Amino acid sequence: MEPGMETAERSAAARLAELIRAADSVVALTGAGISVPSGIPDFRSPGTGLWANVDPMEVAHIDAFRADPSRFWGFYRPRFQTLGSKQPNAAHAALAELESRGMLDAVITQNIDMLHVKAGSRNVIEVHGSIRTSSCFDCGAGYELDDVPALFAEDGAAICSQCDGNVKPDVVLFGEMLPAAAMAEAERLATEADLMLCVGSSLEVFPVAGLPSVTLASGGQLAIVTKGVTSFDCDAEVKLDGDVAEELPAVLAALALV
Ligand code: ZN
Repeated sequence: MEPGMETAERSAAARLAELIRAADSVVALTGAGISVPSGIPDFRSPGTGLWANVDPMEVAHIDAFRADPSRFWGFYRPRFQTLGSKQPNAAHAALAELESRGMLDAVITQNIDMLHVKAGSRNVIEVHGSIRTSSCFDCGAGYELDDVPALFAEDGAAICSQCDGNVKPDVVLFGEMLPAAAMAEAERLATEADLMLCVGSSLEVFPVAGLPSVTLASGGQLAIVTKGVTSFDCDAEVKLDGDVAEELPAVLAALALV
């Protein structure tokens, strides 16, 4: 660490604490980076985890599910089992704590891993769906995460117990529309926010990447807590560039002093 860096980091956390304290409405927007400290690799990072040897655009596409559900589940089944056992980290906990103190209205997340809910956040908008439920592609019957393993047939596909149709996780695959109700709620929150707190997202994947612009256009401010460059760094009031699991608890600590 360069001389002075520690002080600069501390003052960025203090600045973010001031912005949170001053805002009537704060909304968090989170991406894959907030779950990395929980041991869930960002599939956009090359060569990591279960995505090491596959092209997500190919296997995580709705056409891949339609064409060959057993192959689709061959990739997804171990990923689902892994995700289901992961636990929230200090960054998820800090956002849940902010909400419980009445300082955060909602979390809008691109993540499907349920970690915000596990951490105790109550108002969570999962714009890419989640692994919590799966549904029959034919009759719409719904299944909880724990009920899916019993549906797997010998060829590896998950088969509906009502109609023998194919069951698909309720996550948004490439080539699918985002859930309209969740996106409408996310846009409403972004419009009304005095402060959007962007955590662990490069803010590159549309339409979610358009939400910070909605907040800015409505007169709100942006704060960014993300390692590496994002498209909105120049528009942000403050940027915290360290590990999210250290930065957000530091902001909570700073809030006690503001
Ligand atoms: Zn069915």
